[in-house]
Amino acid sequence: MKYFGAHVSASGGVENAVRNAQQIGATAFALFTKNQRQWSVPALTAEQIHLFKEAMREAGFTAAQVLPHDSYLINLGHPDSDGLQKSRDAFFEEMERCERLGLDRLNFHPGSHLKRITSLQSLDRIAESINMALERSTGVTAVLENTAGQGSNLGFAFEHLAYIIERIEDKSRVGVCLDTCHSFAAGYDLRTKEACDKTFEEFDRVVGFGYLRGMHLNDAMRPLGSRIDRHSPLGDGEIGWECFKYIASDSRFDNIPLILETPDEARWAQEIERLKEYANL
Ligand SMILES: [Zn+2]
Ligand SMILES: [Zn+2]
Repeated sequence: MKYFGAHVSASGGVENAVRNAQQIGATAFALFTKNQRQWSVPALTAEQIHLFKEAMREAGFTAAQVLPHDSYLINLGHPDSDGLQKSRDAFFEEMERCERLGLDRLNFHPGSHLKRITSLQSLDRIAESINMALERSTGVTAVLENTAGQGSNLGFAFEHLAYIIERIEDKSRVGVCLDTCHSFAAGYDLRTKEACDKTFEEFDRVVGFGYLRGMHLNDAMRPLGSRIDRHSPLGDGEIGWECFKYIASDSRFDNIPLILETPDEARWAQEIERLKEYANL
């Protein structure tokens, strides 16, 4: 089964994300379970959790259709011990929020070395941070997102993801989310069927489809290998519809949330509609 959706607003309460997803005909969604620009917020109340679970049940959504995203402030590969500790605490808090909401995965950007430590030192810290969070929590998978490689962000090469996964003690609770815009910006071509075959074969060889827990479907405003993260509506950017048609009709992308993070929210319903057509839904 193919699950298509978008990163919807949870403003006014996490349960609103479920309704916002339903309104655009989505069968999947992504959300921030807290304000993504704040380090810490009060814990979810029993009432908030009840409302979310109730909305999920009414809409017929299961955890496999939801891909929560953590705060952009968190850097699990931080070069400084204070910054690293703050990030680790906040990440654990986010894992806990997902767990309490009955969700089973948390999507995050691996981290950045900020040009103060080497890439390998930072990747080692990221792996250690994930191990610490997994040890303190249950039921939630840490889902590494590949990045565009802008600035000192790590995770742009499939090898970075593989390096981190190799160091995770509980491999049943680590996964990957591939963002098409980030992949393209990082130099992985997706413009034709042949290019998609090659890129996803490389992903399978280096990381493995067994780790895929979600996808972000975004077109790219900048050319191949630009290392710049600018999303476009599907078909409006440098990648084009061929890639999204490929993903919609390929069973390797079944049963995971396929999430739009495209800039024009008014077009989400249409984009989802077209993806569903390609998936024969
Ligand atoms: Zn992201
Ligand atoms: Zn993304």
